[in-house]
Amino acid sequence: MLTKQREQAVIHLCQKLVQIQSYSGEEGGVAGELAGFFRERGFDEVKVNEYGCIIACVHGKHPGPKILFDGHIDTVPVTNAEEWLHPPFGGEIHDGRIYGRGTSDMKGAVAAMACAIADFAQDTGCDFSGSLYLAGVVHEECFEGVAARSVSTQVKPDYVVIGEASQLNVKIGQRGRGEIKLEVFGKPAHSANPEKGINAVYKIARVIEEIRKLAPTEHPVLGKGILELTDIKSSPYPGASVVPEYCMATYDRRLLVGETKETVLAPLQALLDRMMAEDPELRAKVSYAHGEEHCYTGNKIEGERFFPGWLYQPDEPFVQAVVGKLESKGFSPEITQYNFCTNGSHYAGEAGIKTFGLGPSRENLAHTINEYIEVDQLTGAAECYYAVIQALLG
Ligand SMILES: [Zn+2]
Repeated sequence: MLTKQREQAVIHLCQKLVQIQSYSGEEGGVAGELAGFFRERGFDEVKVNEYGCIIACVHGKHPGPKILFDGHIDTVPVTNAEEWLHPPFGGEIHDGRIYGRGTSDMKGAVAAMACAIADFAQDTGCDFSGSLYLAGVVHEECFEGVAARSVSTQVKPDYVVIGEASQLNVKIGQRGRGEIKLEVFGKPAHSANPEKGINAVYKIARVIEEIRKLAPTEHPVLGKGILELTDIKSSPYPGASVVPEYCMATYDRRLLVGETKETVLAPLQALLDRMMAEDPELRAKVSYAHGEEHCYTGNKIEGERFFPGWLYQPDEPFVQAVVGKLESKGFSPEITQYNFCTNGSHYAGEAGIKTFGLGPSRENLAHTINEYIEVDQLTGAAECYYAVIQALLG
C-alpha cells in the first residue's frame, strides 16, 4: 500500500496533468508540468526531443537494464463539453473518481509512472543496477508508434512498459493497424454525355465489392486481420455535371503478428491485377496512407500509416517475473492482449524490444464523454509500477 502522502502525490499530479489541455500537437504545457515534477523529485536527466516528447531518467549507481515507461501525453479532443457532468479539464474528484479528458487515456498512468520511479529512487537512494526512464510521448492518438521511434533510438531500452488502460492486467500483445488507400482513376466528361468519360465511382464500386469477398487472415490469439472500408471520396467534389475522374477509398486493416507491408498489400494487388486484365478501362492502385502532423516544437512528424502487431508468450521470463512480483503484492493480473493500438507497435512490433502493457482503468473509458479514472486504480497503478521496477531489475 502507498502511504497517504504518496497517494496524495499521485492524485495531485494526475489532476494537474488533466487540467492542462493537450490535444495531439499541443502537448507543450503537459511536458512543462512534468519537467517541473521530474526536477523537483531529483531525476538525473530531463529532456524534450525534436517532436516534443519529454524523456526523464534516474540512473542507478550501478550499470544494469534500462526500463522505459511509455505514456502518451496527448488526448483526443473534447467535442461536446456541455454534455459532461463535470468540467472536462477540471480534474475534479467525485465519489472516488477523478473526472476529465485524459484521466484514463492516459494521464493517470503517466502520473503513476512518474511517482513510482521517484519513490523507488528515493527509497533506494539510487543504490540499484540499471536506469529508469519515463517518456511522455506526443502524437499517439491517430499516429501510434511514430514519435515512439525517436524515443527508442534515444533511450535504447531493454524493457518497455506501456501504461495504456488494462485494469492492472498484463497485456502481452495487440493487433496492429494499417491504413490502406485504394485509388481509381477515370476520365472526366460532361454528365450529359457520360459515355465519353470513365466514371471512377462506378469502377471503384465494383472493386469494393470484390474486396469484400476476400477472406481475412487469422491468428489463433489475436483474431482476424479485419479489412474495413472507413471512407470514400470522389473528385471533383462537388461534381456539378461532371463524371468523376477520381475516387479514393480508405481501409482500416487490423494487422496480425508477422504481417508486413508487402504481405498485406499482395492479395489486394493480385485482385486489382486480375480486374484490370478483365477491364481495360479500370486503372486502380493500392498503397498505404501517409500521415503528416505538426508538433508543438515546430517540427513535422510524418510516416506511412503502418503499425505492426506484436505478441509475446505468457511464459516469457520477463512476463513471469512481473506477474509473480505483482501477485506477491496482492494483485491478481490476468495475462491478455490489448484490443486497440498502442506505442507497443513500435517498441515490440518494429524494434523487437521486450514490451508489455499495464495500466490503470478500463479501456472502454478512453475517448468517452465523462471520462474518469478511479482513484483506487490510479494509486494501484503506482504500486504496480514500483513492483515492475523491482521485478525487472531483479
Ligand atoms: Zn491511449
